[in-house]
Amino acid sequence: MAIERIVDTSTHADDNEEQEIEVTLRPQRFSDYVGQERLKKNLKLAIDAAKKRDEPVDHVLLYGPPGLGKTTMATVIANEMGSNIRVTAGPAIERAGDLASILTNLADGDILFIDEIHRLSRSVEEVLYSAMEDYKLDIVIGKGPAARSVRLDLPKFTVIGATTRAGALAAPLRDRFGITHRLEFYSAPEIELIIKRAARLLSSDIEPDAAAMLAGRARLTPRIANRLLKRVRDYADVNGDGIIDTVIATRALQLLEVDELGLDPADRRLLASMIEHYGHDPVGLTTIAALTGDETSTIEDFHEPYLLQMGLLERTPRGRKVTAKGAKHIGTQPGR
Ligand code: ADP
Repeated sequence: MAIERIVDTSTHADDNEEQEIEVTLRPQRFSDYVGQERLKKNLKLAIDAAKKRDEPVDHVLLYGPPGLGKTTMATVIANEMGSNIRVTAGPAIERAGDLASILTNLADGDILFIDEIHRLSRSVEEVLYSAMEDYKLDIVIGKGPAARSVRLDLPKFTVIGATTRAGALAAPLRDRFGITHRLEFYSAPEIELIIKRAARLLSSDIEPDAAAMLAGRARLTPRIANRLLKRVRDYADVNGDGIIDTVIATRALQLLEVDELGLDPADRRLLASMIEHYGHDPVGLTTIAALTGDETSTIEDFHEPYLLQMGLLERTPRGRKVTAKGAKHIGTQPGR
């Protein structure tokens, strides 16, 4: 088992079984989507209005750290609208022609979900602007002096874009979204509800204290909550009678090296090497990446948001620095 990856929020599920479980656990309606109340309220209003006018819902941009429910929300919007959803991702649309073929295959009212939308190339982005703005597609036919531009009508569709960083999106693309919303980390009680719901769906027996314990270590992130539950359930099946109580949960979490704040060895290494080399002085992102051997984007998208949220790391104009709380936490961790 890849222990370090227990808190990995990438969507590349480890195997088919995991993907199947993700599908069954993914909420389908607003009523099973826990938390993000402000977002749900805004979206419900937009959906009701669109239905009343018999129009597609406005384009929606969702941003925030991975695993917080952006893809899930896109599915919920499609279900609530009674629309078909087509799922793709920025890096998968390489050329303008790829996007053109996706767009011309849509029908009125369809939803196009583009994950990692900040990774679209400039030429693809430009095609998307006019498609989103006035449902038109400009394509060039032929080459050289005989080339001419043709304008095609597109069906009235909705783009739902997801990104970890709204700032990485070109301004003209960002402006095409009528609804832009940041997904927040969940509260511990919300994560506890998500764990209990997932346990019910997986027919797994978890005691309330153990659910609360897992909730405290899931980085306030539903994807990690579900993943921890699955690993702890495996442990309970192999080493006990399948019932997840606090004793089983504690042992399983120890094995997974997830500490009581939900940090994994990679997070602890990041904080520890910052302290070791720079104490409480600010450090630039690229220096941190060099210290830990990670990509800057991994640190920025995955490690940092949670460490900031927990007050273990602080962002200053001169770089990131470990807080007193961060240093204290690292000091209590054995055997780094
Ligand atoms: P993102 O697209 O932001 O990376 P996902 O939508 O793929 O995140 O969510 C990851 C998993 O977490 C989903 O498969 C789903 O099972 C669970 N999940 C996400 N949001 C919620 C929620 N609000 N309530 C319950 N489960 C959720």
